[in-house]
Amino acid sequence: MVKKSGKSKSAKKYVYFFGNGKAEGKASMKDLLGGKGANLAEMSSIGVPVPAGFTISTDVCEYYYKHGKKKPSVLQKQIDDNIKKLEKSMGAKLGDPKNPLLVSVRSGAAVSMPGMMDTVLNLGINDEVVEGLIAKTKNERMGWDSYRRFINMFGDVCMGVDHDYFEEALSKIKKKYKKKLDTELTASELKEVVEAYKKVYKKYVGKNFPTDAKVQLGHAVNAVIGSWNIDRAIAYRRINKLLGLKGTAVNVQAMAYGNMGDNSGTGVAFTRNPANGENEFYGEYLINAQGEDVVAGIRTPELLSKLKKQMPKIYKQLNDIRIKLEKHYKDMQDVEFTIQEGKLYMLQTRTGKRTGMAAVKIAVDMVKEGLIDDKTALQRIEGDHLNQLLFPIFDPKAKTAAVSAKKCVAKGLPAGPGAAYGAVCFTADDAVKVAKTGKKVILVRKETSPEDVSGMWAAEAILTSTGGMTSHAAVVARGWGKCCVVGCGVLEINNAKKQIEVGGKIIKNHEFISVDGTSGEVILGAVATSASPVVLGIIDGNKKAANHPFCKMFKEIMKWSDKYRKINVRTNADSPKDAANAIAFGAEGIGLTRTEHMFFEGDRIWAIREMILASDLAGREKALKKLLPYQRKDFEGIFKAMKGFPVTIRLLDPPLHEFLPNDDSGQKEMAKRLKTTAALVKTKVASLHEMNPMLGHRGCRLSITYPEICRMQVTAIIEAACNVAKNKIKVLPEIMIPLIGTKQEYDILEEVVRKTADAVIKARKSKIKYMVGTMMEIPRATLVADTVAEKAEFFSFGTNDLTQMTFGYSRDDIGSFLPEYLDAKVLNVDPFASIDQEGVGQLVKCGLELGRKTRKDLKVGVCGEHGGDPDSVKFFAGIGLNYVSCSPFRVPIAKLAAAQAALA
Ligand code: PEP
Ligand code: MG
Repeated sequence: MVKKSGKSKSAKKYVYFFGNGKAEGKASMKDLLGGKGANLAEMSSIGVPVPAGFTISTDVCEYYYKHGKKKPSVLQKQIDDNIKKLEKSMGAKLGDPKNPLLVSVRSGAAVSMPGMMDTVLNLGINDEVVEGLIAKTKNERMGWDSYRRFINMFGDVCMGVDHDYFEEALSKIKKKYKKKLDTELTASELKEVVEAYKKVYKKYVGKNFPTDAKVQLGHAVNAVIGSWNIDRAIAYRRINKLLGLKGTAVNVQAMAYGNMGDNSGTGVAFTRNPANGENEFYGEYLINAQGEDVVAGIRTPELLSKLKKQMPKIYKQLNDIRIKLEKHYKDMQDVEFTIQEGKLYMLQTRTGKRTGMAAVKIAVDMVKEGLIDDKTALQRIEGDHLNQLLFPIFDPKAKTAAVSAKKCVAKGLPAGPGAAYGAVCFTADDAVKVAKTGKKVILVRKETSPEDVSGMWAAEAILTSTGGMTSHAAVVARGWGKCCVVGCGVLEINNAKKQIEVGGKIIKNHEFISVDGTSGEVILGAVATSASPVVLGIIDGNKKAANHPFCKMFKEIMKWSDKYRKINVRTNADSPKDAANAIAFGAEGIGLTRTEHMFFEGDRIWAIREMILASDLAGREKALKKLLPYQRKDFEGIFKAMKGFPVTIRLLDPPLHEFLPNDDSGQKEMAKRLKTTAALVKTKVASLHEMNPMLGHRGCRLSITYPEICRMQVTAIIEAACNVAKNKIKVLPEIMIPLIGTKQEYDILEEVVRKTADAVIKARKSKIKYMVGTMMEIPRATLVADTVAEKAEFFSFGTNDLTQMTFGYSRDDIGSFLPEYLDAKVLNVDPFASIDQEGVGQLVKCGLELGRKTRKDLKVGVCGEHGGDPDSVKFFAGIGLNYVSCSPFRVPIAKLAAAQAALA
């Protein structure tokens, strides 16, 4: 029998109060109270003016979804108790017409999800309360304005009535009174709007608008919890990899009114500039406005600098709070505030989202200012942030030409830096559709809303005609590091005609435009983009660019990363140029040279084709002899560029058919060039055809059947090493055998490699040293790694093939089902982008441990695409690999992730 819990056991606490300079919660309780709730509590405790309220914890949301959408039985009493506390604190009562208390109900998960969850303001109004509110505030207009906003929000958020139905009703009344703006409507006109809204509500809900404040609150709490699992919230969490969250908290807070006249207002601000990181107070506000007006982008707000003149006292108080919050949180904050008849209230503070540029600048500046140390700075910068510094900008010449040709047709607010061009799409769906065809897309909207998220994601850039730097479009794009221009008011976007009218010009659907997210310019046509100053300074050695502040900051971050990381970072490079780029970014060796890439250059392809076509060993050796000097030259270039760092060179890996032409004309050309018949070429192509080439005659299997290929490549590698070493340049060649599955495969080829290499060294009377090792990319190899390590001196995990063979997903065809797999949560992330830690990762761990059991000093790295993915790098560092290897442009991100792994 199940034992009933004893009466003495107190009920679980689900509700946390804040207000009057005190709070039951604190900033560190984000998992339980959500970011918003935890910070409201913290602000209240440190003496920042916050309207009192309470937070219903994320435990309730978690409980709700675990128990068939039921809330804990003890919750209602805790809510009632906290309402009483709130009423006492505010000296007003919910639903009391004589002395009404109105509240806001907002969502807030542990991680901020801008625009994803719903908010209800002015809760508690009904026909009697509105009169009481008017009597209390002596502001009739504000009373009716609050009421009509409440019906709209409540209907939309809690009951699913489309916002457009309310808009239609409002437009009719505005037309009737010949008013353009909502703010121009008088109290009696707004009263008419309330009546019209009630009718809209009844028509679409089928019931009268609820008048009981507690009933209203119940619906609002349910709606916030319910919005956790609506499609757009789920999509946002998936795109941003927000996994393992309990749910949303619900914040119920006394209302502060920004719509009480010209001495009231509402705003959003950042304690530093979120676009470029400058240490300046940056924000926007609207006078006589409420709640979401700034964020929703309905009216274009004023810059905070204007508030300094308009309300100097309030500005000073706000600026003092800005300094207090930065000192307290030691990070840039994103705050919401309301001014109610000359009194300032803070409604929210949270860590501000920022561009990559701003993230780097703020981190470096805060170290200089002594606010944080370099370790904290490193943990504040995401891989993507660093990536944004490497983003393209417009090719200066192409841009100047476009501007002189008067193609720059508009200028909006630069909300997300970068440069992009693409075909204009007017809806999110169309953007997704067109992007799927491989075309670059610019999503153009009046304003964006959470429903547009997938289209925004698919687009190269987002362009809106209304809204400010804190509008939905701006916040979401910035979080993703996407190019974005907002508030571009001169654009007349006509969705029905699918065209934009600007300055007498028409931009049609799918026509190309370019968007400069750093300056805010909109340009007709596609303007070529070019590398970032960091790339110009570091890779191209451009002196002016090297002195660019961002180049210097980038180097500082790299210096700190090098100080703390424990794992080495190498690069995958197939040419001296790639190798030199990677060295410039601080790579410490090459982890993978794919030698086959060298065969496609110039005339080499003909030598390899001749080898494939040859019918006997002599014929193959003759052709390979032609390839040898090319390979040797390539390796010499790479060794020189690597300046003494180790270079891992992989022997030929792909199946031979990849080097032959598939089409008739190509086969005819090959026959002519190699003096044979097209029929013979065709027969050869057919004979090399495999049903499953990725599991076919490739990797070490090629060199076992054609050891002469292995001999030629090893000769080229060692001769190149001897030549370079002669010039007093240190060389460390590591010869890597691909795709082994058994110890026997490895042992056979190792013997061929060593015999060939030693013969060259002896003939050259050289003293160079080399290593022989293998790739680990077949699951079986990882399971017998102890036996392979008897001879192999190093392992490099080829996690691309290892993922392919462990999951049984073709790396080339996963696109046909991956989107659905992600949607249905069969997979949380693309396993070819980020290592599957519980499956493929365990094979890596197993191979590593078995290999090191045999050979303690076994050098182990990874050279699959995962070597440049921050989460994967952290995993590899954690299990004890010696290095990760990634493409040159991902070297900085890998270094940062490696440092973060060491500091975690
Ligand atoms: C791998 O399989 O992870 C690898 C690096 O080799 P490739 O991508 O060339 O197959
Ligand atoms: Mg491979």
